[in-house]
Amino acid sequence: MGINIEWKKRVHTILCSLVVLCIVVMVCRDLVRKEVENQLQENLKDVALQNEEIIEKEIGEKIRVLQVIAGDLQPMKDYKRIRYVSMLKPVANAYGFKRVSYTQGNGRSHTTDSYHKSVSNMEYFDKSINGKIYISDLFVDTIGVEGKVNVFSVPVFSPKGNTINGVVYATYRTEMFQELISKDSFDGQGFSCVIQEEGNFIARSNKFPKRQKFGNLFTLLQSENEDNASVIQELQIAMDKKRSGNITLFFGEEQYVYFSPIAYKIGGKKCYLLTFVPVAVMEERSFHLENYMNLLMVVCLLVFMIVGITFVHSLYHKRETLRRLAYQDQVTGGENYAYFEEKIEQLKQPKGYLVSLDTDAFKIVNQTCGVEKGNAVLMELYCIIKETLGQDDLLARDNADRFLVFYSGVDKEELLIKLNEISDKVRRLPHKLHIPKLSTYYGVYNVLEKVEDLDVVLNYANEARNVSKKKGKQKYAFYEEVDFQQISNENELKARFDDAVQNEEFEIWYQPKYCAQTKMVDGAEALVRWRNEDGTMIPPGQFIPVFEKNGMIAKLDEYVFKKVCTQQQSWRERGESLIPISINVSRATLYYENVVELYTEIAKETGVDPKYVPLEITESAMIDNADVRELAEEFQNVGFPLHLDDFGTGYSSLATLNVMNFDTLKIDKSLVDHIGDKKGDTLLFHVIQLAKSMGMKVTAEGVETEEQLMFLQEKECTNIQGYFFSKPLPVHDFEKKCNYCNCPS
Ligand code: C2E
Ligand code: CA
Ligand code: CA
Repeated sequence: MGINIEWKKRVHTILCSLVVLCIVVMVCRDLVRKEVENQLQENLKDVALQNEEIIEKEIGEKIRVLQVIAGDLQPMKDYKRIRYVSMLKPVANAYGFKRVSYTQGNGRSHTTDSYHKSVSNMEYFDKSINGKIYISDLFVDTIGVEGKVNVFSVPVFSPKGNTINGVVYATYRTEMFQELISKDSFDGQGFSCVIQEEGNFIARSNKFPKRQKFGNLFTLLQSENEDNASVIQELQIAMDKKRSGNITLFFGEEQYVYFSPIAYKIGGKKCYLLTFVPVAVMEERSFHLENYMNLLMVVCLLVFMIVGITFVHSLYHKRETLRRLAYQDQVTGGENYAYFEEKIEQLKQPKGYLVSLDTDAFKIVNQTCGVEKGNAVLMELYCIIKETLGQDDLLARDNADRFLVFYSGVDKEELLIKLNEISDKVRRLPHKLHIPKLSTYYGVYNVLEKVEDLDVVLNYANEARNVSKKKGKQKYAFYEEVDFQQISNENELKARFDDAVQNEEFEIWYQPKYCAQTKMVDGAEALVRWRNEDGTMIPPGQFIPVFEKNGMIAKLDEYVFKKVCTQQQSWRERGESLIPISINVSRATLYYENVVELYTEIAKETGVDPKYVPLEITESAMIDNADVRELAEEFQNVGFPLHLDDFGTGYSSLATLNVMNFDTLKIDKSLVDHIGDKKGDTLLFHVIQLAKSMGMKVTAEGVETEEQLMFLQEKECTNIQGYFFSKPLPVHDFEKKCNYCNCPS
């Protein structure tokens, strides 16, 4: 689940980054576009200013020429002036004038092209005779080659310089302006015009579209597009304030326009230069850049996508690895409990059988054949079970040699066939793998509805498995067979434990051990009994396994040990000669920390020498845990004799003997029972021989008949314990048996 969220988060981050990247690229593209536009506007301004400079230079130059001429004329008499002017034709040509003229004070003019006529009614004469330098409005000159002209005029002062008595003017072909501003700009797509403040054209460059003879720019723009109205207004306001600047308008197509005032008035009116460039030119220019940007964006996206895909891919891998770690069983390579749990809880059709499978001797395999072999056994088990699975079935290793199987949709008969198949194959495993005998047992729970909590149903299957373990041949049990009475009894026993200790309901009984040769009591085993309030007795076989399951046994063992020590001490104080009373120490007790210190301390406190309280440890406790061996050694080091209990019930009896130092070997009743049959006799004989050769004493347990006693005596068994001599006895009876002289009668 956690992995999923993490994964989604990362993909989310990638997508967000992608979106951010797109936005960044788009913003960049926009910025570039703007930059190109600005660049173009700057260009436009440059072109416009250049044109303006050219025009102003042209006009200034013309006026200066006329002023020079006027200066030359000033000292001359009128007739001389007329003659002088008639000689100025080359000057007129050189400066591009159609003609230059001297006008007398009466308005009569004399031109370089030999015309003599009155211009007294012309505005330029009027202005200049009154002292002004003037550039006339545009008009059509009908003298000579017809064409639009402007006239530049300057006053001529009298020789004394106090009055004006003439005017010099030059007729300037307006088309000269046109030529001036017709320089190619923006690859021939730009054009310009000079207008007067009310919009009348003075000059238009060659590229200027929609040429009419005369005209007004504002009217032209108005007729071109209605949307221009507001721009014209804006332009007029700016022009009124003699400002320069940019506007965008429609003229044939969308155009950028730069407008700037010209330093000279023409016809007494302010003039402006307007330079146009189609917006399309800008777009054309930005087009390439935009293309590069688009390309860049695509490349970026591609790179990002590749990186993203690689990232997602690696995430997927990581997730898979994590999933494997989370769901895979490291030994078998199959699924584990977590996987099983998730899958079974997701099942929509969960009808089937949940089987909890265990083997009876896996620990022994591990101990005697090594972990590697143990793992091989698990692997084989896994494969064997897997072969019985159908399509929708589930299998997982729970822990150690415990497996969970869910067979979906099978009936009981089919299930049992599968379980038998497993049992048969497992039975053949020891031969195949060279391991001790191994068999499987199963607890089955019939799942009828959706599994909400695997732990709950698994618990049912496990309870059934515990039942199956106790069965004989048939190694499976269904949950229905679980004896709830027994379970509730177990719970009751657990609940009563503390009170029972408090109320001293636990009694210690003593079963004497006899010297095989002298038939005298020379030791005993302390065996616990639980006396109910009503006086009835609960045998240890009923409560010890229960307390072993939950750890309470450690408390009980300690209790028994303390009681026995106290008892020994009181016998000693009474002057009896002590014999060793052995105490059973359960495997669970040995797992507790500081157990050696605890028992040593108790012995010390009660004043008992540890040699009088030997400890009986069962073989299985030895097999289970290497630490236990260390503990046993510690016990021995502080003086507790150790008895290896129940010898002969396990697999590793001989192996245990080899690694541990026991004082006494207690031969289990199951071996003693075989006395009389040949193999049993041989086995017992060799066991006793072996133990003795290793320096151990031998106690035979569960000796019930004289025949058994005689056999054991003959084979030089050290001690005899069993009903033949005595059952476990309450303390008073035991004292009598021991002939403790000071025992109260
Ligand atoms: P165990 O340690 O093997 O003790 C010997 C058991 O065999 C005793 O059963 C004893 O009464 C029984 N027995 C002795 N001689 C004969 C015989 O000739 N024939 C038969 N049929 N049985 C004989 P008990 O007292 O019922 O104890 C059962 C088991 O309970 C003991 O087996 C021991 O494992 C456990 N146990 C008893 N007391 C304690 C204790 O204080 N602490 C721990 N941890 N376990 C105890
Ligand atoms: Ca015992
Ligand atoms: Ca025993």
